[in-house]
Amino acid sequence: MDDLIVIENVTKRYGKTTALSNVSLKVKKGEIVAIVGPNGAGKSTLIKVSLGLLRRDGGKVLIFNKDPFYDPSAREKIGVIFERPSLPISMPIIEFLTHVSKIYNKSPSNIKEVIDLVGLAGNENKAFSQLSAGQRQRAAIAHALIAEPEIIIADEPTSNLDPVERNKILDLFLKINKEKDLTIIISSHVLPEILRVSSKITIMKSGKILKVGEPDDIVKNISIARIRCKDPSIIKEILEKNGFYVNVEGGNIYVKTEDNEKTSILLNLISDQVKKGQQVYGIELIEPGIEEILEG
Ligand code: ADP
Repeated sequence: MDDLIVIENVTKRYGKTTALSNVSLKVKKGEIVAIVGPNGAGKSTLIKVSLGLLRRDGGKVLIFNKDPFYDPSAREKIGVIFERPSLPISMPIIEFLTHVSKIYNKSPSNIKEVIDLVGLAGNENKAFSQLSAGQRQRAAIAHALIAEPEIIIADEPTSNLDPVERNKILDLFLKINKEKDLTIIISSHVLPEILRVSSKITIMKSGKILKVGEPDDIVKNISIARIRCKDPSIIKEILEKNGFYVNVEGGNIYVKTEDNEKTSILLNLISDQVKKGQQVYGIELIEPGIEEILEG
C-alpha cells in the first residue's frame, strides 16, 4: 500500500465552530506534503485529528492502515514537531537525546548522527534554554528523529523564526526527506517559501481543502510583479487601460499576471513607459501568496 495516511471526508466541530468540513487527503510514502492556509483555516485541527489526538465528528482516518484515535500504536512511527517546541529547559541537549534514545530502545550510536544531521554539532552540551529559536527547532527535530520514525508531522515549524532561519529549517526537512527517506507533512501560513520544498501542496481555508496539487500546478504561471517608480498613478492608468488588475501599496505597484504572455505584455508596456521618460526604478516578479492563488 502506497498511502501511509488516508483522511476521508473528515469533519470536526468545536461547539458551533466547524473547524474541518469534509476534508480528504492522502499522503504517499516519500512525499513532502504542505498544508497551507491562513490562521484559523483548520491546519492544526487537521493535524491533531490525523494523529488521533482529537475525536472527529465524522469521516475516516487511517495511518499505516490503523485508526489512530482507537489504536494509538498507529502513531508509533510518527515524529511530531510543534511551532514552539518545549523540551526540558536546563538539561543539555545531548543528555536529553540520550534519555529519549533509551526510552525508544535505540542504539546510542545514532545520537551523534542525528545531532550532525540537524546541524547542532558543537551545541550538544548547551541546555534548551541557551539555544536560539532556530536551534530549538533543530533540537525538536532531533528529538523526533531519535525514535527513527517513518513520518514527520510538523505544525507551523517555521512561524516563530526569522526569514533566513525559516528557509534553513525548510532545507533541513528537505534533507531529512532525501537522506532518511522520510515522509513529511508541514503546515504553514506562508505559501511562497514552502513551494520550494514540497512535492504536494494542500491549500486550506475555513475548514475546507480548496486546492491540492504539485507546486507548479498550484502556482501555474501566476506571478506578481512589483514595480517601483516615481509616479505610480501614471503607470497604474496605462496598465489598467491594457486590462491589468493593479494595486498600489506603499508607493509600489503590484500587478498579477496569470500567464507568461501577459507577463511579457506587462514588461513591454513598462519598457515603453521608460522610453517615454517615466522613471521606473525596479521591477521584480514575486511568488504569489495564498490569496492570489485562491482568487486565481
Ligand atoms: P489553524 O491551525 O489553521 O490556524 P486551527 O485548526 O487552530 O486553525 O483552528 C480552526 C478553527 O477552529 C478556528 O476557527 C479556531 O478558532 C477553532 N478552534 C481551534 N481550536 C479550538 C478549540 N480548542 N476550541 C474551540 N475552537 C477552536
